Amino acid sequence: MANGKRDYYEVLGVNRNAGETEIKKAYRRLALQYHPDKNPGDKQAEEHFKELTEAYAVLSDAQKRATYDQFGHAGLGGGGGFSSEGFGFGGSPFEDIFGDIFGDIFGGGGSRRGRGRRGDDLRYNLSISFEEAAFGLETKVQIPRHQTCEACGGSGAKKGTSPKTCSTCQGAGQVRYQQGFFSLTRPCPTCGGEGRIIESPCPECRGTGKTKGKKTISLKIPPGVETGSRLKLSAEGEIGSQGGPPGDLYVVITVKDHPIFKREGQDVICETPISFVQAALGCEIEVPTLDGKLKIKVPAGTQSGKVLNLSGKGIPSLQGYGRGDQLVVLRVETPTKLSARQKELLEEFARESGEDMHPMGKSFFDKVKNLFD
Ligand SMILES: [Zn+2]
Ligand SMILES: [Zn+2]
Repeated sequence: MANGKRDYYEVLGVNRNAGETEIKKAYRRLALQYHPDKNPGDKQAEEHFKELTEAYAVLSDAQKRATYDQFGHAGLGGGGGFSSEGFGFGGSPFEDIFGDIFGDIFGGGGSRRGRGRRGDDLRYNLSISFEEAAFGLETKVQIPRHQTCEACGGSGAKKGTSPKTCSTCQGAGQVRYQQGFFSLTRPCPTCGGEGRIIESPCPECRGTGKTKGKKTISLKIPPGVETGSRLKLSAEGEIGSQGGPPGDLYVVITVKDHPIFKREGQDVICETPISFVQAALGCEIEVPTLDGKLKIKVPAGTQSGKVLNLSGKGIPSLQGYGRGDQLVVLRVETPTKLSARQKELLEEFARESGEDMHPMGKSFFDKVKNLFD
């Protein structure tokens, strides 16, 4: 069969320098003409359509096209690397183009037989505390959404009556009409595309088949979430219409600011002030952690900005293993509002102090001196 193949450019009726757009256009035009739906039972048209689709599969793919240009059909292997069995619309690489062309012309290519429409997806914003984000929580939320009208069971028709199939479109929701060469479809004007007509609407839902309500949903938020984390709850969104499936519910997390902790990835940052005396002499301080208070040692001669690492005291990983660290950032606080006695002590202290006890300062002023000498 590989030998009997026609040249792909010839099949699409374009020359070898044709650009992407030109190839796509040519394919659209020809595929429309030879589509099996337009030529029921015509074996030749079907073969031609397969040929077109195969040619397009190769020429629309830059890499395959280059191989084909160089080696011809042989370069692509016997079958051309494309299975044209049954024109699998779903999942074929041509969904875009089929959607484009056959979506409008053939009314969804016949795949949208049922009239039920899927319900909308819903978004629910959930605000949680820093600790809840760290360790997870279980909570119940009330989601405002529609529910099936109990009075009419969702049909939209008053009790004792039922919707009638639209006689204009026989329930299809669409009508065909001729425009030049093509037979096109449009939503049925009688029923507005619903496929049925409700003569006496249900008073509870005014014919919509739904009423407003709230649903309580239990949520399990895993440890480690952060602002912007999104939880998907399948089929908990808005109900569908006319038997269509419900949409999904998305819970979007916002984590409230913490008075002490900040978060960086899985690490918890905690700025902790210490006095200059504590910094100079060393001390033991108590710091807050997610697991409660913890005593830590501050070594003598600690500089402001020094970071102490508390391993494993951070946020648990969302993947379920390990925790980040807590980083204690020490800030040395300069005392204010000194008493006369304190000033006196500090002045005496200064008289006792030499350069060697302030190596950072000495090094800095040495550099400044060099800069201007
Ligand atoms: Zn109702
Ligand atoms: Zn109709």
